[in-house]
Amino acid sequence: MIYFDNSATTFPTERVRAACSAALADDLSGNPGSLHKLGVAANTAYNDCLASVSRLLGAKQTEIVFTSCATESANTAIRGFMSRNKRAGNTIVSTRTEHKATLECLSYLEKNGYNVVYLPVGSDGKPDLAALEEVLTKGDCALMCFTLVNNETGSILPNDEIVKIKNRVSPSTVYYLDAVQALGKMRIDLHKTGCDMCSFSGHKIHGVKGVGVLYVRDGVRIDPFVLGGGQQNGMRSGTQSLVLAKSFEAALEEASEGIEESYDNVASINAYLRKELAARKAMILSPDDALPYVLNVSFDGFESETMLHCLEIYDIFVSTVSACSSKSKKVSYVLLESGVPQKIAANAVRISFSRYNTMAEAEEFIKCVDDIYDKFAVRK
Ligand code: PLP
Repeated sequence: MIYFDNSATTFPTERVRAACSAALADDLSGNPGSLHKLGVAANTAYNDCLASVSRLLGAKQTEIVFTSCATESANTAIRGFMSRNKRAGNTIVSTRTEHKATLECLSYLEKNGYNVVYLPVGSDGKPDLAALEEVLTKGDCALMCFTLVNNETGSILPNDEIVKIKNRVSPSTVYYLDAVQALGKMRIDLHKTGCDMCSFSGHKIHGVKGVGVLYVRDGVRIDPFVLGGGQQNGMRSGTQSLVLAKSFEAALEEASEGIEESYDNVASINAYLRKELAARKAMILSPDDALPYVLNVSFDGFESETMLHCLEIYDIFVSTVSACSSKSKKVSYVLLESGVPQKIAANAVRISFSRYNTMAEAEEFIKCVDDIYDKFAVRK
């Protein structure tokens, strides 16, 4: 099997499985809120885990909340901030190329009377910074929402430039950043990013499904999304799951250890595929300066889904548009917003890598693409 669909999800590593199994031991299975020794043991292990995740992300322990997924983190941050800070302004600025986890929150807020300004994005997927400055200058912008690495194209946000503009023009605007596809691939030091709230997902970094993280900088107030017993400083009620927190910690530690070597490995796979595919008249849609972990390619003569299923015959797995919306058979809104013509976007396939992919897999992929063109392409 060649698994090139790592932006959709990844498989848990041995280390993650071992961490889960250790966390499931009887002596760690008490409720972290219980006063007896089983509760104390679970609570101690949970707090150690929180401390290590916070340190790896460059945040304080009080700033990190475990959630069920990045979608929950986004909902908590975006809706929770606007609900708590009604006098911060009526405008939110973002783009139409965000993940649905953000876009649906923005659409909900629009229906509730907020003014959402969607900045145009260029063919490189980057938001128009002059337009951002114009919006921020008006003085009514409570929140801005951007994505550090786009999940469909790998386009990297000009984060430092955005933070500079915000700090100069509208320092009180709060900045929500989706860093789901960046985590474990680029070094992230939350206090240095300039963002105020940030979301992450365990299953994108070889952790397990069911755990996400939300960062909320100390001093930023939000209404919690999940109400109840007041766990996690009241930011997200519900009995804490040691096994899920531990799975995230193990995945993050492992990803952080070899981050530069992994990047170089994936960058060489990406460069090889770009060269070979372009020579076969496939069109590379990811920007030249995209994160190498995502490669969006339009295959001449094959609609996205047809190519996906042709590759599947060879036990190769890729995506069409992002996995959560791919069942609706739509053409990628991210590509259309970035100015890719409909006919080209209709043939787009997202190939996405993990640090465990190899050059041998990339070479095999190219052989299979050649075979697919030989066997299945309609001769003109
Ligand atoms: N944000 C981005 C950029 C993503 O790629 C995804 C998942 O595809 C999400 C948010 C949502 O993550 P989760 O599946 O953890 O809810």
